[in-house]
Amino acid sequence: MSESGTTSLRYLNGRKVNDHMSLFPAQRTTFLPGGYMGKILRVDLTNGTLKDENLPEEPILRKFIGGQALALYILLKYLPLNATPFGPENIVVMMTGPLTGNGFTPGGTKMTAVYLSPLTGTTLGRGATSGYWGTYLKAAGYDGVILTGASTKPVYLYIDEGKAELRDVGRFWGLGTRATEDRMREAVGHQDAKVLCIGPAGENLNRAAMLANDYNHFAAHSGGAVFGSKKLKAIVVHGTRRPTYRDKEKLVDAGWRWRGTLQQHNVQKKKTKYGAGEAWGALNNLNWRSTELSPAHIKGFDQNDVVLRPCFQCARMCPWDATIGEGPFKGTLLHFNAGGEWLDSFFNLGIKGNSALYLAERINDLGIECSHFSCGAGVALEAWEKGLLGPDKTNGLKLEWGNVDAVEKLLYMAARREGWLGNLLAEGPKQLAEAIGGDAPKWAVHTKGGTPAMHEWRPMLGQMLRELVASGGMKPQGGGSVNPPPDLRYREKWGPLGRDSADGWARSQVLSEQYRQFTGIFGGCWFAQMHQKPDGLNSIVDAFNAITGWNFTMDEALAAGHRSMILQSLFATQRGWIADFDWQDVGPRFLEPIPDGKYKGFTIAKWLPDLIYEYYRLSGRHERTGRPFKETLDRLGLEEFTPWSQEASQL
Ligand code: SF4
Repeated sequence: MSESGTTSLRYLNGRKVNDHMSLFPAQRTTFLPGGYMGKILRVDLTNGTLKDENLPEEPILRKFIGGQALALYILLKYLPLNATPFGPENIVVMMTGPLTGNGFTPGGTKMTAVYLSPLTGTTLGRGATSGYWGTYLKAAGYDGVILTGASTKPVYLYIDEGKAELRDVGRFWGLGTRATEDRMREAVGHQDAKVLCIGPAGENLNRAAMLANDYNHFAAHSGGAVFGSKKLKAIVVHGTRRPTYRDKEKLVDAGWRWRGTLQQHNVQKKKTKYGAGEAWGALNNLNWRSTELSPAHIKGFDQNDVVLRPCFQCARMCPWDATIGEGPFKGTLLHFNAGGEWLDSFFNLGIKGNSALYLAERINDLGIECSHFSCGAGVALEAWEKGLLGPDKTNGLKLEWGNVDAVEKLLYMAARREGWLGNLLAEGPKQLAEAIGGDAPKWAVHTKGGTPAMHEWRPMLGQMLRELVASGGMKPQGGGSVNPPPDLRYREKWGPLGRDSADGWARSQVLSEQYRQFTGIFGGCWFAQMHQKPDGLNSIVDAFNAITGWNFTMDEALAAGHRSMILQSLFATQRGWIADFDWQDVGPRFLEPIPDGKYKGFTIAKWLPDLIYEYYRLSGRHERTGRPFKETLDRLGLEEFTPWSQEASQL
C-alpha cells in the first residue's frame, strides 16, 4: 500500500474485481458512532513512516463494525493477490471493536489481527486476544493498526497518548515473551504500559508463532510469524483516553443483564479439572490414539497455588496464574487463560500432571501455537516408536512418550528451527509427516495445513464440522448447539440434535458462526458469550446499540456476522482455496474412528462430504468452490464483490 492509500487493482477473468476507494477519508463527512476512537495508525515498516488515518465513514463502519470484519475488509482492499505470507507485501491489520474497553460489560477486551496465513498460503490468518492490550490501544487513541512492509532491523512500535514511534529493539531480540513484556515496560518507563510481542518462535518464522500479551493471553494462528517476518518484536501501548458511548443508562442495564448470564471460573476447577475434554469424557493421548482420562493426568494439580487474574472489567475470570506446588518443577510460576488447549497438547505426548503445566508455560514463553507443536511432535514420537525416526534426525533425543526433557528440547528446536526435526516442526505436522515418509502422513492431524484447536473433538459432530470448515489458518468459529439458543427461538427451530444423525448440524453451524462472528467484530470475547442462557445474546445486541447509537435488530446483528463469514471465503477463493479442501486436505487421523472409550468407533467421516456441502449451501456459498452466490452478496450489501460470485448451478 502506498502512502497515498492507492493499491493495485485486481482482476478476475479480465474483469475488475475490487475498485479502489478511499477507505480512510481526509475529513469525515458522516458521524462517528459511539465506541470508536476514530483513528487507525498506519505503519510502513520498510521506510519507517507512520500516519494517522481517519476511520472509514459511517456506512462502512455500520456494515463491517470492527474486529475481524473491518480488518478483513481493509485487507481485501490493499493486500496484493500475489502476496506471500512472509514477503514484505503481506499486511497485518489489527482492529478492536466498539465494545473493546467500554468497562460496563463483560468481555469488552478483544483485538483481532488478520493477514495472509503462513499455514496455508491461501486463506485468512486470524488471531484474537483478550486481556488489556486492546483496551490500552484505544486508551492510546487508536481503534486499530495497519502494518505494511518489513524493517531491515528489529524494531518495536511504541504508542503513547496519540503519538507513535518505531524504536530499535536490538538487545531484546531473542527474548521469550515473558521477559520481553517486562523489559519493554522498563524501556518505555511506564509500568502500566501493555505489551503485545513475539518470542523466539516468531523471530525464526515458526509458521504457527503467536502474539503474546498481558502474560496470560495469546493471539494464535501465525500472527507472531508475520510479525517476525517484518522484524517487529512488539507493540507497546500506553494512554489514558476512554471510548465514548451513546446511552449510558441503557449500556449499564445491558451490562448487568449480560453479567447475569456469566458462568464464572473458580480456583477449585483449576486444581481438579482435566481440561475441556472432561466435559464429554475424551482427551488426546499418544498422538490421538487413545481418549482415556486417568487420575495421573491431573496428579499434583490440587497442590498448586492458583490465583485468578481477570481481564479488563470482566467477571468471567478465565485467566489464572499458578505456582507449582510439588514435583520437579515446584515453585515455577505459570500464566494461563481458559481454553486449556495447552494442557491437551502435552497430554497428547504422554506427559501428565504438573509436567504438562510446566511445558505449557515454556511453549507460551517461546510463543508457539500449542496444537501445531503437539500434532507435529506427536507424529515424531510415533515415528520413533515405529522405527521410522532415529537419533540421527532428532539431535540425539530419545523421543519416548512422556519424556519431559526430550519434549522441552523439541520445543526449543521448533522455536529456533534447529536441525532437521526442529525445522520441520516449525513448518507443521503435514510437512513433517511427508518428510518422514512411509505411513507417517496417515498419522498427522491437520486441516489444510493448520491444526485444530487442541482438544479431542472427534466424538463431537458440531465441533468437528466447525474445525473442518475453519480456514486452517485461524481459530474456528461456531460449533453449533443441540438446540437453538433461547434468544433465537423466535426464528430457529431444531433439535435436539444427536450424534447418530447429521441432520441439523450444518444449519446449527451456520447460525452459531454468525453470532460468534458478531460478538467478535463488536470487540467482544466469546468466552463471555453465554448463548445458551436466556438473554445471553439479546443483552449483547442491546449493549452494542447502547454503545454505538445504532439500532440493530438481532437479525441485523446475525447478518453482520454472516457478512464476516462471506468475506473470509472471498479472501481465500481469490488466492486459490476451494471448499473441497475442507474435506480433502485433512490429516487422516483426524477422521479415523475413535480408537477406544465410550465413543469407540465413532467418526464424522461417514457424513462427509455431504455435511460440508450442506453447510456451504445453507450459508449462501457454492458447495465445491466456496464462492458466494450473487444473491448472497446482494443480500449482505457486498455487491462490489460480485465478480467473485458464482451461479448456484455452476461448478
Ligand atoms: S470471558 Fe474470560 S477471556 Fe474473555 S474477556 Fe472475560 S475473563 Fe477475559
